Amino acid sequence: MMEIHPKKSLAIFSLTSCGDCFGVLKNVDWGRFSPERSVLTKLELQNFYDIDDLRGKNKIEKKYDIVIIEGHPRGKRQTDFAKLIRRQAKIVVAIGACAHQGGVYAKTNEPILKKIIRVDHTVPGCPVDRNELSRFLMDLFWGKVPRLPDLSVCFECRQNENDCLLKKGKLCLGPITRGGCDSICNNYGEACLGCRGLKPDANVEKMTEILKSITPEQDIEKMMTIFGTLKE
Ligand code: SF4
Ligand code: SF4
Ligand code: SF4
Repeated sequence: MMEIHPKKSLAIFSLTSCGDCFGVLKNVDWGRFSPERSVLTKLELQNFYDIDDLRGKNKIEKKYDIVIIEGHPRGKRQTDFAKLIRRQAKIVVAIGACAHQGGVYAKTNEPILKKIIRVDHTVPGCPVDRNELSRFLMDLFWGKVPRLPDLSVCFECRQNENDCLLKKGKLCLGPITRGGCDSICNNYGEACLGCRGLKPDANVEKMTEILKSITPEQDIEKMMTIFGTLKE
């Protein structure tokens, strides 16, 4: 992976989304990335656009070291826009379930971001977690390969000593879903719906078999497509 050295530029672009990942981005402590605050980074935040800022434009003047994209590319205009962004970026980071696997737009059957352009990294979640995103960007800055947790949501759920929904005959996608959210839904008694996408080597077939004993097949499919879990 390419190393990043100071001083680096970062741009953030928003495609179609509910706006919450964009909100998380606004709340990232960008001061952590400023030279005044620490020697950690000289990451220069150069732009903070959403699609409306660029309406009618067909080119972006600057080139960026890192570009963050949130949201799902919908329609030709946003698809072209994503391609335009890719050309101006050394590293593209897709953040949030909508950019990662379609998220709440997965059912539209439009291609996900990584089918349209090369995506170098993904930070999953609905919404993306601010701390995970900050750590991820720090790693990029230091030239490290940022890593996501490989363990399933079940791992964290068990650590949190939650009652297992599957064992109670209820639906949950925790066994196949990438952890890192501290099993937040399960901590409140709700099922994991897979917003962080599949964990590496997820056994979807086995998961489907288990769920079939609990609910009709069409419900399983519905559950697995809520966030586009199987689209990745
Ligand atoms: S991933 Fe979730 S929070 Fe982020 S833009 Fe999509 S729907 Fe909103
Ligand atoms: S409730 Fe869900 S996430 Fe928690 S242990 Fe059971 S299957 Fe795994
Ligand atoms: S428990 Fe599942 S649905 Fe809930 S935040 Fe974590 S990955 Fe997403």
